[in-house]
Amino acid sequence: MSERSGSTDKADWSKKQWREVLTPEQFHVTQEKGTEPAFSGELYGHKANGIYKCVCCGQTLFLSDHKYDSGSGWPSFYQPADDTGVETETDSSHGMVRTEVTCRQCSAHLGHAFDDGPAPTGMRYCINSASLKFVAKKN
Ligand code: FE
Repeated sequence: MSERSGSTDKADWSKKQWREVLTPEQFHVTQEKGTEPAFSGELYGHKANGIYKCVCCGQTLFLSDHKYDSGSGWPSFYQPADDTGVETETDSSHGMVRTEVTCRQCSAHLGHAFDDGPAPTGMRYCINSASLKFVAKKN
């Protein structure tokens, strides 16, 4: 099967292509490293059992098993789903030194990681709802 028209590798997609498939807020967060307003995202208080995937490429990023109520206003996880979904790197923008969390597959900006999370990891992955797509686990 040939897919010559349009790259299927979303890591190579242009801003123009992303703008066509994402909502303005999803685009701002994932492609411009934006942050949605606290308590605004629909997945903040979301407690259903399932998988949180990258809204851009569908990569599995986080699991409901690791989600907790951080009180921060953004969906928070104490660890990623596995070692392959997310990437972290130092972000020195906005006069702060933070750890940026991105999708390892398509480089979408997801949020930031802080070391004030609960046991067992002590980590808080503070993730924008706009960067996530929730898929309920089938029973
Ligand atoms: Fe992605």
